[in-house]
Amino acid sequence: MALQLNHLNACQRNAVLFSNGPLLILAGAGSGKTSTMAYRMAHLITERHISPREILGLSFTNKAAMELKERVKNLVKKSLGRKAVQGLSITTFHSLCVRLLRAHAERVGFQSDFTIMDQNDQLDVLKQVLRNIKIDERRFDPDVILFEIGQAKNRFMSPEQAETFFLESKRMSPDYGIAAASSYSRYQEQLKILNAMDFDDLIFYTVQLLESQADVREKYNFQFRHILVDEYQDTNAAQFKILRLLTERHQNLCVVGDDDQSIYGWRGADPSHILEFGRHYPSAQMIALEQNYRSTSRILEAANSVIAQNRNRYPKKLWSDRGVGEAITEVILEEDRAEAEFVAKEIFKNGQEKNRPWSDFAILYRSNSQSRVFEEALRRHTIPYKIVGGLSFLARKEVKDVLACWRLIVNPKDDASLRRIINWPARGVGRTTLEALGTYAFEKKQSLFEVMGQSSVLNPLVPKKSGVILEFWALMTRLGRSLTELPAEAEAVVTWAKDSLQQLQARQAVEDDCDDAVQAVKKWENVEELLHSIGQFSVEGEAQTGRQFFSEFLNRMSLEAQEAEKDEEQKDDSKKNQVTLLTLHGAKGLEYPVVYMVGVEEGFLPHKRTIDEAVDFGEERRLCYVGITRAKDMLFLTRVKNRIRYGKPMPRTPSRFLTDIPKDLIVRQDESDIPDPTSKEQQVEHESRIKNYLAEIRANLMKRPSG
Ligand code: ATP
Ligand code: MG
Repeated sequence: MALQLNHLNACQRNAVLFSNGPLLILAGAGSGKTSTMAYRMAHLITERHISPREILGLSFTNKAAMELKERVKNLVKKSLGRKAVQGLSITTFHSLCVRLLRAHAERVGFQSDFTIMDQNDQLDVLKQVLRNIKIDERRFDPDVILFEIGQAKNRFMSPEQAETFFLESKRMSPDYGIAAASSYSRYQEQLKILNAMDFDDLIFYTVQLLESQADVREKYNFQFRHILVDEYQDTNAAQFKILRLLTERHQNLCVVGDDDQSIYGWRGADPSHILEFGRHYPSAQMIALEQNYRSTSRILEAANSVIAQNRNRYPKKLWSDRGVGEAITEVILEEDRAEAEFVAKEIFKNGQEKNRPWSDFAILYRSNSQSRVFEEALRRHTIPYKIVGGLSFLARKEVKDVLACWRLIVNPKDDASLRRIINWPARGVGRTTLEALGTYAFEKKQSLFEVMGQSSVLNPLVPKKSGVILEFWALMTRLGRSLTELPAEAEAVVTWAKDSLQQLQARQAVEDDCDDAVQAVKKWENVEELLHSIGQFSVEGEAQTGRQFFSEFLNRMSLEAQEAEKDEEQKDDSKKNQVTLLTLHGAKGLEYPVVYMVGVEEGFLPHKRTIDEAVDFGEERRLCYVGITRAKDMLFLTRVKNRIRYGKPMPRTPSRFLTDIPKDLIVRQDESDIPDPTSKEQQVEHESRIKNYLAEIRANLMKRPSG
């Protein structure tokens, strides 16, 4: 059976049937770009009898690549049967590069079994380089330098070429630029000695391979006779070069994208690739898609009015015949928890009244750290959810590490927590040392921490480490003591907790675990969110001291983590039917019937980082556009008047992007006067559940031999 194209519109059909040569599909959100690309691939295979091996599809994330492949498979299956797509490559740039480099590593000076370095290895190498060239890592943060080196590689800049780039970078001061410039080449040399590449090298060396080795370039030009790229607006300079080199001979390059959805500028993505496609490929044809099939016209109009404020964009006319649809609701709440509670209740109500499955709903936020309160509220309402592209808040490493430090302070007998954080940040206390102390502690029926406070034991047992261990012991003991002296008030405990993180050098520890400076900032936001959650905590029963208050808080966190874990285990039963929580970045290309965009406030959207840097808000505005255009039927924009920060309410202002949406599209709902959104019965039920859990946890703690 021939591939059916009759429900595609004329422009989409033209793109599918387009013969050969460069083709650009530039169109707004939800206009069927990705669908058209899937159809074009299927058409090449079924009607033009191109072997699937000769087609290369590139997508932005593994998830997107997998989904696309599935769609093409299904389309082809109807015509040719199951095996017809064998050999078809639909993948990400990075996976493609690994494949090419493994096959030809020696051509760029590596062996084919090169290792791909993780972040820690990368940092170790860079720190060694910094020591060698006498750059003090206490003055120059290795994470920052690593991030900048990555930026240079994304632009395919050799160490020599990168010098000016570093010196002119607005992200760092000139002396940082000099440090980055002097370490880049040494860092690359060192990686070569180790036969290792970092993530950005995969792209970098592939460019080098294809540029310098004519026969290799020829081979892949011949092999991939049709290359199709989704989300082309987010390609960086190095990826752009790869595409040019791979299509040098045939120029059968079909790219699909939307300049208004370019949201990876901070990683070197360059929307001029899509805007100047016609200049790069003079014989290119361009097809615009104008009908949006995803959203109601009201949602579309809101999105259009936000993005219209950006300069330097390709003008588009997007329309939808899905009808005006329901009003967009802007909801204003008093504070964080009320916002989360509102969203959870709405989802519950909406799900029941309209018989919508949970999978119809998505909660979108700007930063991962915003997920915590929503997770808590969804769990409270027993609504299943999944976090896309991330772990649930309490399962994140930095959150678990900080909690382990605090648990140890509150309960020095907690050996498990001690083992978790004794080297967080690195103190050089290795496995052998811990084993020696563990054996001794076991024999004497003492906890590890107790043993660590005794110099008479440490000196003979682990002489070299005794100093650092005693220091650690003293610090934890001191922190424990000051906690006891506090009143049982959130504000005092937050101040203590903040101070404890400083003394524990937690920021350093978090940064040591990170790939780059941006990731470090995000992870630290999670730790700060944990501090905020102390500020919002209130004890169920009675607490006399700060220690009791804090201990109750830690119990609550254990309880929440257990619940999240349980949900995780049950995931298989209800795999698909869950509310989705994800960041605006992660939502690109996806769609949901009901979308809650939360925290639509200055500081989140635009993000405070971009406000501080006073850069143009183009990219933040595009993120807002991406968020709004994920919604098919219903869109809620929520914000709060105050966020509890460090135990105190901080006033918040609405996002500047909200004011660009015409008032007649929005219904405003001010819920901030309503005292408590939960019903009395729900509250009683919730409280009794919490009490049961706390009792359970206490019982478990009692059972532990060390506690
Ligand atoms: P984004 O910019 O968000 O990546 P997109 O342009 O890639 O969006 P798709 O995800 O391909 O758009 O399509 C959006 C929705 O419209 C999907 O649900 C898709 O099935 C539907 N759609 C696309 N083309 C048509 C069509 N011709 N008729 C009906 N529905 C369509
Ligand atoms: Mg798409």
